[in-house]
Amino acid sequence: MSDKYDVIVIGAGPGGYVAAIKAAQLGLKTACVESWTAEDGKSQVLGGTCLNVGCIPSKALLEVTHKFEEASHDYESMGILAKSVDIDVAKMMERKAGIVKQLTGGIAGLFKANGVTSIHGHGKLLNGRKVEVTDKDGKTKTYEAENVILASGSKPVEIPPAPFDGEYIVDSEGALEFTEVPKRLGVIGAGVIGLELGSVWARLGAEVTILEAQDSFLPVVDQQIAKDALKQFKKQGLNIITGARMTGAEVKRKLVNVSYEDSKGKQEAKFDKLIVAVGRRPYTDGLLAEDSGVNLDERGFIFVDDKCKTEAPGVWAVGDIVRGPMLAHKASEEGVMVAERIAGHKPQVNYDCIPNVIYTAPEVAWVGKTEEQLKAEGEDYNVGTFPFAANGRAMAANATGGMVKIIADAKTDRILGFHVVGPQASEIVAQGVIAMEFGSTAEDLALTCFAHPTLSESVHEAALAVAGGAIHVANRRKKK
Ligand code: FAD
Ligand code: AMP
Repeated sequence: MSDKYDVIVIGAGPGGYVAAIKAAQLGLKTACVESWTAEDGKSQVLGGTCLNVGCIPSKALLEVTHKFEEASHDYESMGILAKSVDIDVAKMMERKAGIVKQLTGGIAGLFKANGVTSIHGHGKLLNGRKVEVTDKDGKTKTYEAENVILASGSKPVEIPPAPFDGEYIVDSEGALEFTEVPKRLGVIGAGVIGLELGSVWARLGAEVTILEAQDSFLPVVDQQIAKDALKQFKKQGLNIITGARMTGAEVKRKLVNVSYEDSKGKQEAKFDKLIVAVGRRPYTDGLLAEDSGVNLDERGFIFVDDKCKTEAPGVWAVGDIVRGPMLAHKASEEGVMVAERIAGHKPQVNYDCIPNVIYTAPEVAWVGKTEEQLKAEGEDYNVGTFPFAANGRAMAANATGGMVKIIADAKTDRILGFHVVGPQASEIVAQGVIAMEFGSTAEDLALTCFAHPTLSESVHEAALAVAGGAIHVANRRKKK
């Protein structure tokens, strides 16, 4: 087979592998370069951060630990007597590894089925749409392409006061591999990853303290939702301290001594393990030759337009290495858009309709604008909320914390924001995404029939509440 391709993708995470499959489906001769090597030192690993050390393994642990917590604390109130509930951490990890293996192996199968050539090695973009691949033995080979899609993803941010040592001070990847439950666990950063990983170990009995530098909790989340979530997390025993900036971490006698500053001044804390989850950075190490023609922005992301085109002709970039939320589904949507555009079609990612989820318990999920954003923009809007405490199915499921909140334009009634904190929020938010994609009004949802009894009835009631017409809760607004 010749070494010239219609499309070469660098990176086989959810941005890259999806772009490669779509390009091949569209009849383009496609190769995907991925450098990840398995522990055997030989085989290639596909799937990127998401499948190997991100979305999938974290959810595997979150699901198990949620069940464990329910069995330990909630079953009795439901009449289930499970007297000796215990956790086998090794088995939990084995199961997680099995799920990861199944999914990453599945991508290799999909590449084969769709005719994507998989190339194992580190890809570097040269001038003129050429890609140089260095294999694990250091041998290089150069390939040519009509189009190159860069999808090299991101890596955890490491900060000078707390360098990772792989044992006591770890990143998110290390936190997915603990072999036993730490007694005292410190987490730096109350972002999505810090909250999810803190929850995993807290549910298994770790005493968890999360230090967050910013004064407000989850500032990107609608604050009514964030406050409700914070109340529930604190009730579960997560010690979340906002306005606390970590300034140093030192390992002494198998303990991590952490210094931080809060409004009261300098503080100290001791932990058995410390997870540093202060964000992720775009990963472009060794990716671009000096004359590649691709430029980075001031924060190190590859500079692209709204169609993911870089400044070099025929070179595109998708996923965590470009602006926008660092989310797997955003990366995949961009991958599909780029493949379609290369094939001559004209799709566009709707960046206003990308859902966000925090997979804690309760889950937090949203799409569109928060009340704070709309206020700052001077928009006139109406709000409808409905608490799960008034939802029969939530009561039956023993999960009554939280609410659905819908924000609609005061003039047009179009849904501008859809926010959920509560059971199955990650699934419920899809209803808001679909409604917003279709340009729905709150009334459209209010006039829709929802099955009873379901958690989704809370969406119906929140939509009714936008105009003051909720049935199963007292309305804040009067119906006009
Ligand atoms: P990546 O998945 O990072 O893939 C990039 C790939 O490129 C890697 O395999 C890398 O080895 C390869 N590569 C890099 N450079 C080169 C090169 N020069 N040559 C060859 N190969 C190269 N997102 C969600 O949407 N939902 C979640 O629940 C979620 N949970 C997460 C939990 C954790 C703990 C973490 C860390 C992340 C989570 N994310 C989640 C984020 C999600 O993983 C990323 O947004 C997503 O993986 C980005 O996809 P990507 O394709 O851009 O990059
Ligand atoms: P995210 O970007 O969503 O992954 O969240 C990372 C969080 O870490 C942000 O909310 C930051 O404010 C927080 N953070 C960054 N540096 C520090 C620090 N030194 N101490 C405490 N929190 C921090």
